[in-house]
Amino acid sequence: MPADAAAPPPPRSAGGHIRLTSHSAGDGAPPLRWGAPTAAERGPVVGTTTTRAHRNVVGTHSGAYGVYRALAVAAGKLSREHRADLTDTSPTDVIGPHPQWADPAAIVSLDPWGALVADAFGAHIAAGIDVRPTIAVTKAQVILPEVHEAIFKGRLVPDGRVLLATGAAQVTKAAIEPVWYLPGVAERFGCSENDLRRVLFEETGGMYPELVTRSDLEVFLPPIGGQTLYIFGDPRHLSDSAVELTARVHDECNGSDVFGSDICTCRPYLTHAIEECIQGAQRGGVGLVAYSRKEGRALGEVTKFLVYNARKRQVGGDTADRYFARTECVAGVQDMRFQELMPDVLHWLGVTKIHRLVSMSNLKYDAITGSGIEVGERVSIPDELIPADAQVEMDAKTAAGYYTPGVVPDVEELKKAKGRGLQ
Ligand SMILES: [Zn+2]
Repeated sequence: MPADAAAPPPPRSAGGHIRLTSHSAGDGAPPLRWGAPTAAERGPVVGTTTTRAHRNVVGTHSGAYGVYRALAVAAGKLSREHRADLTDTSPTDVIGPHPQWADPAAIVSLDPWGALVADAFGAHIAAGIDVRPTIAVTKAQVILPEVHEAIFKGRLVPDGRVLLATGAAQVTKAAIEPVWYLPGVAERFGCSENDLRRVLFEETGGMYPELVTRSDLEVFLPPIGGQTLYIFGDPRHLSDSAVELTARVHDECNGSDVFGSDICTCRPYLTHAIEECIQGAQRGGVGLVAYSRKEGRALGEVTKFLVYNARKRQVGGDTADRYFARTECVAGVQDMRFQELMPDVLHWLGVTKIHRLVSMSNLKYDAITGSGIEVGERVSIPDELIPADAQVEMDAKTAAGYYTPGVVPDVEELKKAKGRGLQ
């Protein structure tokens, strides 16, 4: 930084000085060999901030929540030396290891051993290395008004196993934090690892200097949201291609998923998928909803709401023929979800065949089949579940190549204003 720069000096750490980047020589970090066949050969992911010499990745744990952890330390609420007590936290269900875990190209955006660290890397933990889980697996019951309605209308029947008489569905759920193997991520996007590192560094405002100073560190814990899995039936069946798998990969839409906003089909499609998953599990199959934190096509809610206004205020009203164009005007792109990384979680689960894919997205379908997973039937959202204001989105998507068993709208149909105005 030039001497005349006006920026205040950075706050001092407990050590009294700030170290901008670490150095590779002579430290005590355990080796990390992505895609190695066993946990012992792969080595633990160590993103601790307490003993920097042990770190073998760029970034910190907990995705975006790492920033809240920093706030808690800054506010004096959390000791930076705190280590998780992992007693009784182990997964409720065994997932893997699967052959895909040992393929460095099959999984590049999560740590397949992330749920098993207490066992797989117990020796490292005992030796004082702060190894933290990046995946947690637990059990739950989920209760949804749409499932109650399906029971009331006779589409779903409680069986006391998958679906209880109370209307609660029994699930195994897993939370997964992002862990990126940078050479593999670069390959998925067809760019060089150097370019990926440089752009990640620059476009986060220089947040992670080690991206450019430590090319020996190949793994990055990015400050983004992760994903959650909801599994209906026995999770061990997910890797058995002979057992019927019903699956939806769903990208977060808080407005619809949680608050019931009717401008899109996200919640109706999600609850329809849950209904399909329950039915599939009751037939002796297994159901999976993989929920990714990629709000508003990973453009974020502010951009999304700006686009809503632009769509509804444009001359001619909210029409499907300008649905994608309005997004591109505001965001610069139509979509930043980049489904290239999405199939990783399926490979973590050992999935080789999805018998019923509850999705109309050609991008998701292409990503899944392109990663070597077979897809049988594609299940579209029933027409009666599409909210009136969401017909604009549905027409735009089917015209753009989304799967539909119905009629693809023509040019004239796309020009008809179908969305509500703002008033
Ligand atoms: Zn939505």
